[in-house]
Amino acid sequence: MPTLLWFRRDLRLHDLPPLLDAAGADGEVLGCFVLDPRLEASAGPRRLRYLYDALRALRDSLDGRLLVTRGRPEQRIPLLAKEIAASAVHISADFTPFGRRRDEAVRAALGEVPLEPSGSPYLVSPGRVTKPDGTPYKVFSPFYRAWREHGWRAPARTGPDTARWVDPAEVGGAVDIPDGGPELDLAAGEDAALAQWKAFTTNGIDTYHDDRNRPDLGGTSRMSAHLKFGTIHPRTMVADIDGSPGAQAYLRELAFRDFYAAVLHAWPRSAWWNWNPGFDAMATDGGPEAQRRFEAWKAGRTGYPIVDAGMRQLAETGWMHNRVRMIVASFLVKDLHLPWQWGARWFLGQLVDGDMANNQHGWQWVAGTGTDAAPFFRVFNPTTQGDKFDPDGAYVRRWVPDAGEKSYPAPIVDHAAERREALRRYGEIT
Ligand code: FAD
Repeated sequence: MPTLLWFRRDLRLHDLPPLLDAAGADGEVLGCFVLDPRLEASAGPRRLRYLYDALRALRDSLDGRLLVTRGRPEQRIPLLAKEIAASAVHISADFTPFGRRRDEAVRAALGEVPLEPSGSPYLVSPGRVTKPDGTPYKVFSPFYRAWREHGWRAPARTGPDTARWVDPAEVGGAVDIPDGGPELDLAAGEDAALAQWKAFTTNGIDTYHDDRNRPDLGGTSRMSAHLKFGTIHPRTMVADIDGSPGAQAYLRELAFRDFYAAVLHAWPRSAWWNWNPGFDAMATDGGPEAQRRFEAWKAGRTGYPIVDAGMRQLAETGWMHNRVRMIVASFLVKDLHLPWQWGARWFLGQLVDGDMANNQHGWQWVAGTGTDAAPFFRVFNPTTQGDKFDPDGAYVRRWVPDAGEKSYPAPIVDHAAERREALRRYGEIT
């Protein structure tokens, strides 16, 4: 009997455990992807563009044998399973709150046909690494030690020839993969992800530990969107790296990715609520003036060049360097006194790598409200941060060529005064 392989955040053919299971003894597999209108409405145009391009690439790697359909998965998947008389539906596990709810609905709708998860988008799946008493880690460093000790499997040996692919023309319900959308500054899909990774391991990872905080040097891997959509598995990446300082610093960042996925899995509420409820009482600004400042932040017109450079890079490309993400997030929370959720929502709409676990907890780290967060009272100074991490001003010149010109706005707030105000508000809740 054939099986159904339902692709989601794993748009690749290599190192894909559910493909091994789907091919099983018989080898006949229908590969499918369901365009879910709920995700199409919330993903933001750049993530959708990456998704559509990656689907096209996947379909090409399968000589057209990928069925793309649209609708609610709990309706579409059982219909497809019935049409090909599938013995099972195979997936990579999804641990996000939305993904878990969706998969439970699909499982229930499938009835007798089992929904079989294997593998996940992570080196170590959420929930696997816990404290000795079985509770989830709240602090990264001990998580990291336990995570390394736990380890992970070697890449799964799969590829386009692992299965005999069912021709989707024999099955109903196919839709076109949408075209258009904003141009991306990186190519999507498995080949592009592998090529990007190869380029970084050949030329970049050796200096990663020194350069990763420097937005002017572009010393990071730019693997985030590929990891988001699973066009490469982190295991495939880690299999290539050694014990050098650059490689080990890189591994630590991948551990952050696993950590935040584990945090979201343990505390799904932390997607939109303060992980630390002690901050619920913190006063934030609202009303027209707050809205005006928020608009200036979004547009990269705060009058603080490093903040504006980051926000313009985000608006123009859908990506921003990690150090600058921290600087602009701190500015929104501690200089403008706006809720971190406003910034997180804006990021999710713009980012090509927008990811609930990394984004929401990245924001909560900066806002001081998360697990293992930066202490609230450590307020980033946007000017000294700029001097330190963009010492020659090359990054600012690239994105804010008008800095210093008459048309460039004066600072919309006074950092020293707003820092005092942030600390005053913090004092009210501690
Ligand atoms: P590299 O430095 O090359 O890192 C390699 C990979 O490690 C990244 O691709 C990513 O998967 C992971 N990683 C690196 N840093 C972190 C981190 N701090 N937390 C979790 N994983 C990390 N990352 C996202 O993937 N999606 C997001 O939506 C996102 N939003 C963020 C919001 C804020 C406010 C902050 C401070 C950080 C956010 N990050 C997010 C983390 C980080 O900024 C990006 O992963 C990184 O900039 C992506 O570029 P890169 O692939 O070149 O990174």
